[in-house]
Amino acid sequence: TAGSTSRFFQFKLVLLGESAVGKSSLVLRFVKDQFEEFRESTIGAAFLTQTISLDDQTTIKFEIWDTAGQERYKSLAPMYYRNAQAAVVVYDITQSASLDKAKSWVKELQRQASDSIIIALAGNKADLNESRAVPTQEAAAYAKEAGLLFFETSAKSNENVSELFEAIARKLPLDA
Ligand code: GDP
Repeated sequence: TAGSTSRFFQFKLVLLGESAVGKSSLVLRFVKDQFEEFRESTIGAAFLTQTISLDDQTTIKFEIWDTAGQERYKSLAPMYYRNAQAAVVVYDITQSASLDKAKSWVKELQRQASDSIIIALAGNKADLNESRAVPTQEAAAYAKEAGLLFFETSAKSNENVSELFEAIARKLPLDA
């Protein structure tokens, strides 16, 4: 019947950020709703997909490229972000240097990736608030100025993980 047309969209999303900030853990939480205290480091990059429904008619499939944060893999990153429609740049709220690293990824994306790429900044490990090194306001102000979506997340306690991906989905162009 009229109005019941269903829509399906597929988007490529890349995760970037310093090693050990929790990129793989965020993906594992989003895709499998699991958390592991001790995880093997990602070698190169890992690929996973997750499908969400945005509303009764709209289904979004994320093709997720989880890149390794180590410096020796840095030259591979452009391969993953080049045709990505969305990027999640992750830092660890307990490590201020990881926010500096995140900012440099954002700069690189804004220079080299697609002009229309949607970038989200995720301050992960929000469950470790007692060890916080980056004030929420500082990161929020930076994100606003740089035009990024911003969430503080925890892959461990499952805080704002689905919210993060859903907010990205809602900014993706769905008029095809
Ligand atoms: P990646 O190198 O950025 O992919 O980071 P990982 O996902 O491998 O996580 C690095 C370490 O941080 C692992 O020991 C995880 O268990 C831990 N970790 C990841 N996310 C969180 C979180 O939200 N809270 C806490 N407390 N630990 C986390």
